[in-house]
Amino acid sequence: MRSIRFCSVALIGLLAVTGCTSRHAPAVAPATPAAPMIPATLSPAQLADIWDREHVSWPVPPLIRHADVEAKLREVQQATPDLFHLEEIGRSVEGRSINHLWFGTGPYHVLLWSQMHGDEPTATSALFDILEQVRRHRTEPRVTSLLGALTIHIVPMLNPDGAERFQRRNAQGIDINRDALRLQTPEGRILKALRDRLNPPIGFNLHNQNWRTSAGKTGQPATISLLSVAFDEPRTESPGRVLTKKVCAIIRDALEPLAPGRVARYDDEFEVRAFGDNLTKWGTSVVLIETGPWPAAEPDPYLVRLNFVALMTALDALATGRVQQADRQRYEALPINEGDLFFLLVRNATVVAGTGVAPFTADIGVVASRAIRSADCQRQTRFAARIEDLGDLQTMSALESIDATGLVAAPLWDPALKVGDVVALPDFSARRAPHVIAPGEPAELVILKEQGGTYRIERIIRY
Ligand SMILES: [Zn+2]
Repeated sequence: MRSIRFCSVALIGLLAVTGCTSRHAPAVAPATPAAPMIPATLSPAQLADIWDREHVSWPVPPLIRHADVEAKLREVQQATPDLFHLEEIGRSVEGRSINHLWFGTGPYHVLLWSQMHGDEPTATSALFDILEQVRRHRTEPRVTSLLGALTIHIVPMLNPDGAERFQRRNAQGIDINRDALRLQTPEGRILKALRDRLNPPIGFNLHNQNWRTSAGKTGQPATISLLSVAFDEPRTESPGRVLTKKVCAIIRDALEPLAPGRVARYDDEFEVRAFGDNLTKWGTSVVLIETGPWPAAEPDPYLVRLNFVALMTALDALATGRVQQADRQRYEALPINEGDLFFLLVRNATVVAGTGVAPFTADIGVVASRAIRSADCQRQTRFAARIEDLGDLQTMSALESIDATGLVAAPLWDPALKVGDVVALPDFSARRAPHVIAPGEPAELVILKEQGGTYRIERIIRY
């Protein structure tokens, strides 16, 4: 962990350096994919194993700052200058560099950009793992086929000002992904200029989605949602959209062994202002990859690994031509995103709400989003959680459910309480807890088991 002071100094130092180390513009993309070549494809399980052994990404993507990305890009390029090319393609509202790194000599150009929304960092890490993979294995057939067929362009952090604040929007307060037509954000203009210069036939728009997202009505989290982005209201199926549907089908089949039932399809409604939709219209057919929830206290390694497997598999399928054999029905048949998954569901509790009302039976639905806490010059990720719903929630699903049948849920009245303590339940009319159990309140409660007039603390819920 580094101090905030050190980070600030490092950032200023890096911003003073010109980021451009190479300005050789790549050639314009041809209209058709490469012919099938070397079938040196790795299975999803093999790619996952490789990621476990060889990944270089930071342990927690939300803590990655612009200075880290800038330094890492420079390090990668300077270590292997015959493989990687780097240029600064512009500056954010607050003057942070936006960088374009590319590699490969193939005629078919692919553009990938991440962190258009500053608080959506998972794919940024996966992109650095791909660079490491290419560097390490550049002489093996599976990589030489990639490098010979494709030229791969990445913009790992399109919204560095938003990333610095861990917020969706840029420093103007604009959602860059609704600025494709008006182009009032420098970040949006930079992306459009790069697309226009390269004119790649395919692009990957890399995001994170809300942790409430489930894969249809299955109750499973939508850990990865895919979209072949439309370019008009009727969602016309052009050759480019057929290609992106096939790429999505390839990714689905790669990920389902690693995340069974947790791959979904993003809503394909046309959004006239969005970048994916307009890039597709301008000639770069876009695959949207949205990374969603994973039910673990430390979800990041699982999520980065899935992104790595998805992108490596998709690039390989494009390079070898394998994508042309994909069945696009595998994409069409994916469950559609739903948005009512809870982070935590306490089921069938006797609720002592702390508001003065008599105890009642209810389920308690908690939602959460990721946040960054800065304390004592250290930055940490945490979940910001609140009670979203209360009542009969038996038709709902959650990342984690607690069966509280026969148990009491009460506000956390004392932060010093521990699991296993045996306590008397306070009279909440005389002693207010910091937060009551009600929709909109922070999720701070205890689950208690009555033991002949006293209560044993079974679980403390606090984030
Ligand atoms: Zn997003």
